[in-house]
Amino acid sequence: TCGICVEKCPFDAIEIINLPSELEEDPVHRYGENAFSLYGLPVPEPGSVTGILGPNGIGKSTAVHALAGELVPNLGDHEGADEGADWEPVVDRFRGTELQTYLDRLREGSISIARKPQYVDQIPKQFDGNTRDLLEHTDERGALSELIDRLNIAPVMDQDIDSISGGELQRVAIAACLARDADFYFLDEITPYLDIGQRMTAARLIRELAADSDRSMLVVEHDLAILDLLADTLHVAYGEPGAYGVITDPKSVRNGINEYLKGYLDNENMRIRPDSITFEEHAPRVSSKENELVEYPDLRKSYGEGEFDLDVEGGTIYESEVLGIVGPNGIGKSTLAKLFAGSLEPDDGELDFALDIAYKPQYIEIDRHMRVDAFLSSITDRVGSSYWNTEIADPLQLDRIMEQNLTDLSGGERQRVAIAACLSEDADLYLLDEPSAHLDVEQRVRATTAIRRYAENHDATVLVIDHDIYMIDLLADRLMVFDGEPAHHGHAKPPQEMRAGMNDFLSDLDITFRRDERTGRPRINKPDSQKDREQKRTGEYYYSV
Ligand code: ADP
Ligand code: ADP
Ligand code: MG
Repeated sequence: TCGICVEKCPFDAIEIINLPSELEEDPVHRYGENAFSLYGLPVPEPGSVTGILGPNGIGKSTAVHALAGELVPNLGDHEGADEGADWEPVVDRFRGTELQTYLDRLREGSISIARKPQYVDQIPKQFDGNTRDLLEHTDERGALSELIDRLNIAPVMDQDIDSISGGELQRVAIAACLARDADFYFLDEITPYLDIGQRMTAARLIRELAADSDRSMLVVEHDLAILDLLADTLHVAYGEPGAYGVITDPKSVRNGINEYLKGYLDNENMRIRPDSITFEEHAPRVSSKENELVEYPDLRKSYGEGEFDLDVEGGTIYESEVLGIVGPNGIGKSTLAKLFAGSLEPDDGELDFALDIAYKPQYIEIDRHMRVDAFLSSITDRVGSSYWNTEIADPLQLDRIMEQNLTDLSGGERQRVAIAACLSEDADLYLLDEPSAHLDVEQRVRATTAIRRYAENHDATVLVIDHDIYMIDLLADRLMVFDGEPAHHGHAKPPQEMRAGMNDFLSDLDITFRRDERTGRPRINKPDSQKDREQKRTGEYYYSV
């Protein structure tokens, strides 16, 4: 964007995003010469939950670090030495604004703060010991045992922190933060690795803590359905990822989400994206079931003596279909993916897939000292061809990271490279385990389109495990639903048509969805609201059209 014109470029040369007037002022923080700058800060409010919504790389975590007192904003003067870092000028800058009291108290050290970091995967690198050791010192409110109970942490209390799963780590980190006795809580993304039920529990715990005790919660989140339930007010973050970010004044959560999706901020009179993100309301897909790709028999797999067992009812996978796979965490979805991929052998039943399978595991391990372009070129010789660019690199926005090292990538960048690597393989069956993790809203929509289009253009068969119900709805032709008792027993039903599958899955969770009138985005109904009761009565949990 050239930044000269407002609205549309008269030369039709570039898509113009009008620059905010904030950019004429000094930023709140600048990391260095020509480095990322942050404009504006969110305002935490007692007794309420404040959300921050925006793309990756736009400064949300930077803003959280600043308000949590871990980073003293330099007001753009990045040459001022760190040791001289002082809150005085920051307080001056925000004098007369809603942040003044907060910053005054932060500088005096008269407020207490608890923070949950964004990347829970880093916790085992910083902490040696088991879950009990980690949580033991956090119980400042006498609420720890309730948190352990509601977040279902008891089964891993004596397990080493470096041996528990991502979803378990996320719950432990949320418990550790909420157990503290703080005035202000900062939670940087709560949903990665959690299933829908666990996301709802985390959202309820956060809401209750704000409402019951007048504490203040600030939450960064990409899951719109959860944000919608969770937040009272919302700050939108926009700008140019990696270059600059602006945090708006607070909006109502519904307007904030809708304006963000629309790409236009009403109060600010600001276009933040050339196009809107639309959530098409569509009837559930109906599969064509033409040619069989593979038929699999009943299968059984157990780990250890009575630890966990999975039973799979046999079924058929068709050529060129996208099969969605849903169910709670710990129910055996990844185990099934490994059985299909051939990296695990079933105890009963036989799988002799004579198929080439490309597999993106849930936890991505690509930490090699290698550049992204070299890594992808080691998988396919099409890297850089116009065909590969259109199908894979463009929708997954790889061009800006092709020259980076795998080890330097952020969570969302790593995910996009792993999806690209999987789709770049020449295979009969593509297995994607949780492709939405760490992606922002826009990246999820783009990744969904890329996977869907790839399946259609290549007659590829794709199996996608994901907790983002909207992504599953947009992607899948049919649905495979798991039920059972997490960590003990899992049961995989044969693939069903979308409508039947969604109703089956969501009735287990006791959640119904409606559509936002303006944007069509799916919203979770309040339990026992009129819509909720009506939809449960008619058995339509998702597709109420
Ligand atoms: P978000 O949380 O919205 O994804 P971040 O606040 O983490 O964004 O980062 C915003 C930008 O600032 C990114 O481009 C990131 O690479 C950059 N950045 C973050 N931390 C630092 C740092 N310590 N030094 C330099 N740049 C940084
Ligand atoms: P999901 O993908 O649905 O979250 P998984 O298939 O990853 O579930 O795991 C199902 C259960 O099996 C979990 O309780 C998990 O801890 C356990 N499990 C997974 N892999 C192993 C293993 N190699 N050894 C023992 N238990 C395992
Ligand atoms: Mg962040």
